[in-house]
Amino acid sequence: MSESRIVAVANQKGGVGKTTTAINLAAALGEQGQRVVVIDLDPQGNASTGLGVSPESRPITSYDLLTGDASFSDCLLPTQFEKLSLIPSDRDLASVDFEVANRSGRMQLLQKKISHVADFDFILIDCPPALGLLTLNAMVAADSVLVPLQAEFYALEGLSQLLMTVREVRQAANPDLRIEGVLLTMSDNRNNLSQQVEADARNTLSGLVYNTVIPRNVRLSEAPSHAMPVLQYDSNSKGSIAYRELAKEFLSRQFVAA
Ligand code: ADP
Ligand code: MG
Repeated sequence: MSESRIVAVANQKGGVGKTTTAINLAAALGEQGQRVVVIDLDPQGNASTGLGVSPESRPITSYDLLTGDASFSDCLLPTQFEKLSLIPSDRDLASVDFEVANRSGRMQLLQKKISHVADFDFILIDCPPALGLLTLNAMVAADSVLVPLQAEFYALEGLSQLLMTVREVRQAANPDLRIEGVLLTMSDNRNNLSQQVEADARNTLSGLVYNTVIPRNVRLSEAPSHAMPVLQYDSNSKGSIAYRELAKEFLSRQFVAA
């Protein structure tokens, strides 16, 4: 059995749709028959909550995976959703930066635990909104980085900083790290600025930007408070349709790359 493909969902800006994308792309891939694990690597634990795992039901977390003896399978929790498992996070994760600051191999903590996992098709890592040690661990462990981009004025500036970090990670630790794709999120086609940023992103990044665009959709923002992906919360919403479309495009690109 081949190794799982590992995708870090990253952008150092908060509120751009990382967690929403990790949860809903995972759910859509599951619906399409793929076995998926989401690793919540954000101390806020939004991906864990959004997949129906409350803070009281997280016996072992990504904190234990990174800093302790826990193995990948020790940390896995099933979810109520098709073919979808979770490694949850909790607040402890916020202290990892500090705790392992002087440990050698501190960028490889996650890689050590997940590089040979083979029972899944995809592992999606939901990164925190910073380019600190947690996101670096995700990038070192990953095959590729998926970047949600909210179409607003400073979006492309932030993106060039992120791409610089990807180049640094390639040089230092993970030469084969690819950009999986850039995903335009929270798009509003009545907003001229948003349309201009989308056009600029496509010009600058050409093939990297997914054809699929995620529209601003209130059902996407309501779903987490019902502890489920939008595909389960409102299967026919614009958000559901967009993430299903993204999953198809994502899979078709895997096929080309393989
Ligand atoms: P991040 O993980 O990058 O911080 P989130 O995925 O948590 O971002 O999204 C930030 C907020 O915006 C959340 O409240 C989320 O529900 C909402 N949101 C994300 N994507 C959309 C969308 N396409 N339409 C409407 N609301 C969205
Ligand atoms: Mg998040």
